[in-house]
Amino acid sequence: MAAHDHTQGRLNATNWIIDARWYYAPLVFFLGIVIIENAEHARTVDGLLVGLLGFALVSNLALFLVVRRLSARSNSSFPLAVLNATQIGVDLFCFFVIMLVSGGLQSVVYVFFFVPIVVSVILFGFRGALVVASLSGFAVFSAVFIQSGIWGLPTIAPFLIPAYEPIALLLTKSGVITLVFVLVGFFGGYITRIITARDVLLVEQVDREAIQIEKLEKLNRAFDDSAKLLVRRDLELYNANQKLMRLDQMKSEIISVVAHQLRTPLSATKWMFQMLLDGDIGTLPPEQKSFIMKGHESNERMIALINDLLSVDRLESGKFKYVFVPVQLEELVRDMVNELLPIAAQRRVRIDFDLPAPSLPKIKVDPDKIRDVLQNIIDNAIKYSKDAGVVRVALADEGSFLHLSVSDSGIGIPESEKDKIFARFFRASNAVRADTNGSGLGLFIAYSIVRRHGGELWFDSKEGEGTTFHATLPKTA
Ligand code: ADP
Repeated sequence: MAAHDHTQGRLNATNWIIDARWYYAPLVFFLGIVIIENAEHARTVDGLLVGLLGFALVSNLALFLVVRRLSARSNSSFPLAVLNATQIGVDLFCFFVIMLVSGGLQSVVYVFFFVPIVVSVILFGFRGALVVASLSGFAVFSAVFIQSGIWGLPTIAPFLIPAYEPIALLLTKSGVITLVFVLVGFFGGYITRIITARDVLLVEQVDREAIQIEKLEKLNRAFDDSAKLLVRRDLELYNANQKLMRLDQMKSEIISVVAHQLRTPLSATKWMFQMLLDGDIGTLPPEQKSFIMKGHESNERMIALINDLLSVDRLESGKFKYVFVPVQLEELVRDMVNELLPIAAQRRVRIDFDLPAPSLPKIKVDPDKIRDVLQNIIDNAIKYSKDAGVVRVALADEGSFLHLSVSDSGIGIPESEKDKIFARFFRASNAVRADTNGSGLGLFIAYSIVRRHGGELWFDSKEGEGTTFHATLPKTA
């Protein structure tokens, strides 16, 4: 790639110089004639000049044809360099002859040597320019030597204008002119070298940028592919999500229908058990009554479980509606404690309720939901108490919120299971072992309700020693 560029560059320069030569060769010819015509001791050398011009033009034409042919096939710059060097040699020779016949350094023809020096700067750079500058200097000195007869060339003597300036002056002039030639070659070559180096840098930069661009394009394509993939995945996820939502909806409907269908016969059974226990259908012997009592309790548990399932479903589907009204919290607590006293009595558990001395301010809550919370926490405290234990329920005003605490001296919660207590359907291993009934849904619902009121629900517990559940409810709720 680089070698090819180099050849192309040299080819362009050569063509350019061939073009230039069509103009400067005749120009030099006419200037030569004018200079000789006006020179002292002039000889007639028109024929020689015409011959030289013809030679220069024919060699330029030859170069033109060869270059055209070369540019069609060759890849190597070598033959081109040889042709260029030959052509520069032809130029040097022509200018040398014109200088000789026009009076040597007594005329200004030596300035023509700048032409091959500049051409060699363009074609060969620093070294080539120095070589051509030295050759030009050599030609200038040679002309002086020939003209002054130091080098005898009798054959061309008739064409020469003899030296009429002192030899010392002519040699000094030659030295100065040669120095100028070399300086022009040197600086010209130096500038070309700088420009070439800059070009190389630029080409390298362009190459690097091309690589960079290619990389970026590759990245871009990769991004494009990823973006398409993402859009596809997004669509798949959207569809999957829609499907899940439909399934969830169906699940909700099934739970709701089944729960309601189950509740109706369970309510009827409850009603029948109640009638039997109340003696409405006749007094039952104590043995039968205790059996009926067990059936009644199981039925109650089933109803509670179905209510919990319905609550969870409503919670998760966002259908759990809240109606906030101002209430006296201690009344709700007292009612709940009273409601649960019979169960506590069955388990021989005592319930102590500590009320704060000045009555508490009313707070805005959903009373039904808070009742569910109280029932769950106090019922758990009774359920997980040891026989003849004590459950302490306390309410306190703590500034911006009311604080409910329910303590028991029951089985406690194992350390390793504490973090799962509020999870759906979770029951601690010691609770399962204690053969207590439960769904593991109560605390999940209670937690959600308390949070919805802007409060917190947490517990302290030590396995085997007891548990205290705490709930706070903000006064501003
Ligand atoms: P469950 O119907 O099992 O009582 P909950 O959601 O109300 O379900 O409680 C979840 C679990 O938390 C219980 O199974 C039990 O292991 C534990 N737990 C709750 N309250 C207490 C308590 N007062 N003492 C000991 N363990 C408790």
